[in-house]
Amino acid sequence: MSLSLMRSMLLAASQNRWLRDHATHYRFVRSTVSRFMPGETFDDAMQAAQHLRGKQIGTVFTHLGENIKDPTEAQQIAYHYLEVLSRIQQSGLRAEISIKLTQLGLDLSPDLCFSHLKNIIERAPKDSVVWLDMEASNYVDATLELHRRALKLFPNVGVCLQAYLFRTRGDLAKLLPLRPSIRLVKGAYNEPPEIAFPRKQDVDDNYFALAKEMLIAKKGNRCVRAAFGTHDLALIRRLSDFASAEKIGKPDFEVQMLYGIQRAEQERLANEGCTSIVLVAYGSYWYPWFVRRLAERPANLWFMVRNVFAA
Ligand SMILES: Cc1cc2nc3c(=O)[nH]c(=O)nc-3n(C[C@H](O)[C@H](O)[C@H](O)COP(=O)(O)OP(=O)(O)OC[C@H]3O[C@@H](n4cnc5c(N)ncnc54)[C@H](O)[C@@H]3O)c2cc1C
Repeated sequence: MSLSLMRSMLLAASQNRWLRDHATHYRFVRSTVSRFMPGETFDDAMQAAQHLRGKQIGTVFTHLGENIKDPTEAQQIAYHYLEVLSRIQQSGLRAEISIKLTQLGLDLSPDLCFSHLKNIIERAPKDSVVWLDMEASNYVDATLELHRRALKLFPNVGVCLQAYLFRTRGDLAKLLPLRPSIRLVKGAYNEPPEIAFPRKQDVDDNYFALAKEMLIAKKGNRCVRAAFGTHDLALIRRLSDFASAEKIGKPDFEVQMLYGIQRAEQERLANEGCTSIVLVAYGSYWYPWFVRRLAERPANLWFMVRNVFAA
C-alpha cells in the first residue's frame, strides 16, 4: 500500500465517530498516545513544561478539542484557557497557548467565537503570543478574518499557515503588511488536489519558499515572530543556513515541534541559542488529533502494533 493511500485512510479514520468512541478505550492505543502527550490533564502538561524549561525549551499549551457545537462547551473552553493563562503567570513559565477556533464556537457563530478569543487575548501577557491553529481548508477564510480582527486590537495574536495549500503564498503576502506573528506548518488535513499540493516534494519546496519570505520579513522587522512548526531536519538545516547567511540572530530563528517528536533536535536548537518551543497537548478529546499524528508518519502504526503485544 502506498504511503499517500495509507495517509488518506488514516485521515479518513480521524473523522470516524465509531472508531473514536471505541478505539480510545484500548490500552495499546492509549499507551501509543502517551508518546505524543504527557497526559490528559493540564497538570500533566505543566509538569512536562517544567521539565522542558530545564532544557531552555519553551512551551505552547493546547487543550485538545475541535468542532464544538454547544455554546456552553465553547464558554467552558474559554474559561479553561483563562485559567491556564493565570496558571502560567503564577508559575513564571515562558509558555503560550494555541487554540483551535472551532473549540471556541466558530461553527456556531464567528461573533461568539471572536468574543471568547478577545477575552482570552486580553488576559494574555503582552510579551507572549496567543496562537491560532489552522484547521481544515473550509475554515481558512474564517480563521484569517478573525485573526485580522484580533490583530487590529492586539499585537500579540499569531496565526498558523499551511504550506500545502496553493492559496498560502497569497495569504502570507496579505498578512505581512500587518506585522504578524506566523507559525508555518506543512498541513495536517486531507485536502483535495484542486487546492493543495498532492506531492510531498512540492509541499516541502513551497514551505522553504514561504519560510524564506518570513525570515526576510523578520529581519526587516515586518514580522513579530516567524516560527517554523516542523520536525523536518533537512528543512530546518536549510532554513538555519539561510538565516545565518542573512545574518539573522539565533534567537530570531524559531522552531516549534510537537511533544515527543525529534527530542534531540529540540535540545540541539535550544543549546545553539535558537528559540526552541514544544507544543504540549492535553485533554481527553485526543482521538482525531492523535490519528493525524499517525498519518504524518505511518511508521507510528508499527509502534502501536508493538504496544498490542506489550499490553
Ligand atoms: C508546533 C506545531 C503546530 C502545528 N499546528 C498545526 C496547525 O495548526 N494546523 C495544521 O494543519 N497542522 C499543524 N501542525 C502539523 C503539521 O501540519 C504537520 O502535519 C506535521 O508537523 C508533520 O510535518 P513535518 O513538517 O514535521 O514534516 P514531515 O515531512 O511530515 O516529517 C519530517 C520528519 O519528522 C518526523 N515526524 C513528523 N511527524 C511525525 C510524527 N507524527 N511522529 C513521529 N515523527 C514525525 C519524521 O521523522 C519525519 O520524517 C503543527 C505542527 C507543529 C510541529
